[in-house]
Amino acid sequence: MKSTFDYIVVGAGSAGCLVTNRLIQAGHTVLLLEAGGPDKNFWIHLPIGYFKTMMDPRFSRHFDTEPSEGTGGRNVTWPRGRVLGGSSSINGLIYIRGQHDDYNDWAKLGATGWNYDNVLPYFKRSEHYAGGETAFHGASGELGVSDLRNDHPYCNAWLEAAQQFGLPANKDFNGQTDYGVGAYQLSIKDGWRSSGARAFLRPVMSNPNLTIVTRAQVSRVLFNGNVACGIEWLENGETKQAQASNEVLLCAGALQSPQLLQLSGVGPTALLQQHGIAVVADSPEVGENLQDHYQARVIVKLKKKMSINDQVRNPFELVKMGLQWLLNNSGPLTVGAGQVGGLARTKHARDDRADVQFIIMPLSVEKAGEALHDYSGFSAAVCQCRPDSRGRLSIRSTDPYDQPKIEPRYFSAEHDRKVIVAGLEMLRAIYAQPAFKDLWDVEMMPADTDLWTYAQTRGGTVYHASGTCRMSDDGRSPVDAQLRVRGVERLRVIDASVMPTVVSANTNAATYMIAERGVEMVLHGR
Ligand SMILES: Cc1cc2nc3c(=O)[nH]c(=O)nc-3n(C[C@H](O)[C@H](O)[C@H](O)COP(=O)(O)OP(=O)(O)OC[C@H]3O[C@@H](n4cnc5c(N)ncnc54)[C@H](O)[C@@H]3O)c2cc1C
Repeated sequence: MKSTFDYIVVGAGSAGCLVTNRLIQAGHTVLLLEAGGPDKNFWIHLPIGYFKTMMDPRFSRHFDTEPSEGTGGRNVTWPRGRVLGGSSSINGLIYIRGQHDDYNDWAKLGATGWNYDNVLPYFKRSEHYAGGETAFHGASGELGVSDLRNDHPYCNAWLEAAQQFGLPANKDFNGQTDYGVGAYQLSIKDGWRSSGARAFLRPVMSNPNLTIVTRAQVSRVLFNGNVACGIEWLENGETKQAQASNEVLLCAGALQSPQLLQLSGVGPTALLQQHGIAVVADSPEVGENLQDHYQARVIVKLKKKMSINDQVRNPFELVKMGLQWLLNNSGPLTVGAGQVGGLARTKHARDDRADVQFIIMPLSVEKAGEALHDYSGFSAAVCQCRPDSRGRLSIRSTDPYDQPKIEPRYFSAEHDRKVIVAGLEMLRAIYAQPAFKDLWDVEMMPADTDLWTYAQTRGGTVYHASGTCRMSDDGRSPVDAQLRVRGVERLRVIDASVMPTVVSANTNAATYMIAERGVEMVLHGR
């Protein structure tokens, strides 16, 4: 293997795969380093395989957050993809961009040029929407985006009940507004998961300019003075290095891009000194501003065996599901985390924007990765769109394999507590509407537990870690609005860490947009 490349990309996740594709298409030599292995396993590619792969340590690394008062003294496990495609290979496939004002907020916070009108073309560029080109959707990109291809009668009943409750129907959460209830679009093409690896890496995989090294744990960025000049990584017990003649691009995700910066001497001076790391640039906010979405669910027991919990235990139903998928690319095998849901305003909303998101599933489970309940469960989850709480992340040691100390500080802001409780109340009210109330007989969770205690002690992550290398032109942020790491040269972060505030919905679509726009800045300086 040669030792110098135009660009070195760290992490083959959602962002890293897209970035690599564009660099290769532009004729550059690229070294792509990924801590995980190849994505050959069948279950990665079948959408319903989400339930098998998301907690499988062969494809997913499990990070534990610090216990906190907001989570009733519990730690919360955060899986992240560790495989080609990164988290896009194990995620719930929901394709939703968030609110137009999320991006307008970014611009107001100093992310110059990242307002909605400016970022819309970058969403469209990578998208291959099965419904064809529209004002809001692209149809000539690589990432498959498809309308829901599973028609579950009880999900339809939930949508009707939500409208009886007073929420409008919304046919396209990625259109003019995300407000209301409807079916989610999913990252699927021809019935298969459209992961970052499948969409962006496969088409360039055999290009001689691309070198991909899997099971390569990057340990630090190499600097010549304050100019990033290469990367060091560990592979099969050996330490290896390569040089980048143009730039090093960190796409290691919101947990590990800041960890790598800190390990490389870019971070808060006191923290670096505590670990004996030579300071390349004092950057106090690297690892700060950590945000996530936290969910709590209302689970009911259906009167009839209409839950996926029942279907997967019935051999006849399993064959039917397989045939639906094989013959028609439709049915329960074509969905991941959620099928329908919506965006709504609680009584605590501060303006006319939705402040909670609902994700509805005709199944139920105690904990992610565990077996489905043995009763006919139906789940409705709620999370706050834009939490006030801010967490932080810091290295524990200089060992690159060690996970950083993750303190999400969920519910450290009082307002967030009120919103999650109000969201649970709304879910209960929707279940009680005429279209749904006769379909179930027992509320299994939260049942008699008071709603705040329930949210605190039984809720968990929606897997949307972001914000730990926020971008801004305010002079203090870890990266500027061109995603260049402040205080050093030839080094950028391009992934979910740069979001100044988490978007009001799932984070994958926004990450692809960041990658599309970020790599254009790398290639064309704009
Ligand atoms: C279980 C789960 C479900 C989710 N569901 C949804 C959903 O339905 N819809 C949605 O929009 N979003 C969802 N998300 C969130 C979404 O997938 C992420 O926001 C997005 O993938 C983040 O992309 P990224 O490029 O920032 O990081 P990642 O895709 O996580 O990529 C980072 C990559 O870098 C690699 N890496 C890290 N450190 C190193 C190192 N030191 N050396 C080498 N390689 C390294 C990792 O192995 C990984 O492959 C989900 C996430 C998870 C985990």
